[in-house]
Amino acid sequence: MLEVSYEWDRLAPPRSLREFETHWSRRGDPHSFSGVWRFHALLPFAPRGDCVTIGEGQTLLQRSDQVARYVGLDAGRLFLQYEGMNPSGSFKDNGMSAAFTHSRLTGAKKAACASTGNTSASLALYCAVTRLMRAVIFVGSGKIAYGKLSQALDYGALTVQVAGDFDDAMRRVKEVSQQLGIYLVNSVNPFRLEGQKTIMFRVLEALGWEVPDWIIVPGGNLGNSSAFGKAFRELLELELIPRAPRLAVINAAGADTLYNLFEHQGLRWNGGRPDPLLIRQYYEDMDRQQRRAETIASAIEINRPVNLTKCLRALDTCRGVVREVTDQEILDAKAQVGAGGLGCEPASAASVAGLKRLVAEGVIGPEERVVCILTGHQLKDPTATVAYHTTDQDLFDKVLGSRGVRRATFANRAVSVANDLNEIIRAIELYG
Ligand SMILES: *Cc1c(COP(=O)(O)O)cnc(C)c1O
Repeated sequence: MLEVSYEWDRLAPPRSLREFETHWSRRGDPHSFSGVWRFHALLPFAPRGDCVTIGEGQTLLQRSDQVARYVGLDAGRLFLQYEGMNPSGSFKDNGMSAAFTHSRLTGAKKAACASTGNTSASLALYCAVTRLMRAVIFVGSGKIAYGKLSQALDYGALTVQVAGDFDDAMRRVKEVSQQLGIYLVNSVNPFRLEGQKTIMFRVLEALGWEVPDWIIVPGGNLGNSSAFGKAFRELLELELIPRAPRLAVINAAGADTLYNLFEHQGLRWNGGRPDPLLIRQYYEDMDRQQRRAETIASAIEINRPVNLTKCLRALDTCRGVVREVTDQEILDAKAQVGAGGLGCEPASAASVAGLKRLVAEGVIGPEERVVCILTGHQLKDPTATVAYHTTDQDLFDKVLGSRGVRRATFANRAVSVANDLNEIIRAIELYG
């Protein structure tokens, strides 16, 4: 795995984070408008004028007292960083703008990725808007939410459905890219992580440059968590923050490689030498038992996270913890996020479900200031949402019951009435 590293003493890093505020008055300049490139001084791997932007990173940090109550935090202590507001509806656009910036320097004509959906949606969108490359997308068959697949198709990407899951598609896309010389934008790509650092810069910006106590993020391929750790490591190195926040990475229980290795087998960054034997044995056991990732949170349905060791470093920098949550906990948390006013896709709600666990365990105190990353938009996976709230037991069983979800704790059920004015009025008076 490669990593971007900077010789800061030969560059001009900012002396204070407040310097970035000057961009707010220059929003007519696309690079000052971009939520990624207004932080260019902290990811200066390409000349500022060459950086690719389609207006990513116009995101929102929303205080949510309703969700705070649900997880057991005091009012005013929980903030939801809503990355669903990106142009393709997920945080992936942060990284895609950086990957496109690098790929343009290489002159690549085609770009590929294996994807659980959001990376492909983002790649397809950047290709459609910029016309810099042609998108080739590998998805596992039946393993992609319709909201995301519809984006790749609509934006005109060449979409290859591989008979298998994400881990299979990932292996193939690496082979194909190497053989055909296609630019690979999966999160093995270190430039994507540079763009994703800016999620943390925007969180700090929204908090008046104050460091929160905790950052909570779902973990799939672990690119995001790795990027966050790198962001804080560099901010510490540049003495732009006094301390790093703590980091909690949340796995789905059906795709919990990091959780098992970190919390049960004691795998650590270990000064840059994590024990390769622990990892190899874990994967060999997984193959022998033919264990496959399985969760309603398709964006984190990944058993072989490519950024595993980078994430260990992030956990080291941020005194991190890892937890796993069931699909039941994920969907209940998702319903609470929706009822609180933002809405997100299942994988995103893992952060809130994980927070609830950490508060119950006493790891996070009710007075601590916490930011949960809502990684993707509510409309990415309408099937999961409708199945949760439905009155149709067959639909519930098919989509959710098959994954061990027993009840829709916070279901908001539609009321069926005859096409009759009086009955409709009576229903509204009864339930309204
Ligand atoms: C990609 C994705 C994740 C997982 O992020 P990683 O960087 O792969 O750990 C989580 N949620 C959503 C919505 C995603 O699209």
